[in-house]
Amino acid sequence: MNEIELKEWDLKAMVPDPGSGGAWVQTSLRRRLDPLTGAGSRILTGVKLQPASRPDLSELTAKPEFCPFDAEHLEKATFAFPSELTDERRIRRGRAVVVPNLMAYATHSAVGIYDPERHFLDLDELSPSLVGDAVAAMVFHAQAVRRMDPGAGWSSISANYLPPAGSSLVHPHLQSCHDPCGTTAQVLMVERSAKWGAGSRSYWSALLELEAGGSRWVGSTGRVSWLTPFAPAGFHEIWGVVEGIGDITELTEEDCSSIGIGLSRVLSAYRKWNLASFNFAIFGGGPHARDAGYQVVIKVMSRSNPDPMYRSDATYFERLHGEALIDLAPEEIAEQIRPSFRESPA
Ligand SMILES: [Zn+2]
Repeated sequence: MNEIELKEWDLKAMVPDPGSGGAWVQTSLRRRLDPLTGAGSRILTGVKLQPASRPDLSELTAKPEFCPFDAEHLEKATFAFPSELTDERRIRRGRAVVVPNLMAYATHSAVGIYDPERHFLDLDELSPSLVGDAVAAMVFHAQAVRRMDPGAGWSSISANYLPPAGSSLVHPHLQSCHDPCGTTAQVLMVERSAKWGAGSRSYWSALLELEAGGSRWVGSTGRVSWLTPFAPAGFHEIWGVVEGIGDITELTEEDCSSIGIGLSRVLSAYRKWNLASFNFAIFGGGPHARDAGYQVVIKVMSRSNPDPMYRSDATYFERLHGEALIDLAPEEIAEQIRPSFRESPA
């Protein structure tokens, strides 16, 4: 039976210490590999890149004269889905609305607005129902796309929030991607899962078994298990693994609600940690997800705060070397967020 191997080395960095007149001291610098993909992550010691305070977001997030996602403009500024896709011209669940995307970055895509009535929702205002309903509306669209075009078998639902995360519009929204091919990260996860072997104990079951109750365990909502990754790719990264399903088109209403509760708790914690920007992705496993023993994975990470001259959290290490520099160990993140997952579901 395959066992997950957690590989970690201390690179034992040597640096001059300003506090002792420049004397050279050895500092712990842990390098870890993601046990599935082999991607490297360096966990620094004594370097604190995290914000001590939060920038004032009022100017950036003030309601402009025109925003296509605001309720009063939405019907004119966006278009309806074709009737061969769905009879719902615009897909609505709770306050969420899903409309066609104008930018062609995938064969089929949509954009979901959590709440057209609110031009800006801060991290702690993205409530379980706002997030859960928006994900449910996106899943409904994904299912419609799959019926219309079964060849577009690779699906994902993701989000950029505020400009440092890549968002061009401030109004909080999420986006989807449905293609005949998967994204690089999606395909890598599924192929490596298949290589690991599906059988009775898939990689993801083994991972949850290994991590349950441990130092990286966060908690669960419904059949979604939440944990911090052993070798994070980004800051404050948290994963959710949905038990038993390999594709986002299989997510039930209850799963969407469980994802909404979990993500909402993570984003509230980000708010408490003086953070303001994030990305998340919900990865479907493509046409062979089940054979690969793949399970739907949600990944969320914080991004740099939108200060006027902000320091990007994506350095040459992340962008060119494919290796993350992290100043807070995933075990510290899990410990800090775990209490909020002990609450009963909202
Ligand atoms: Zn708006």
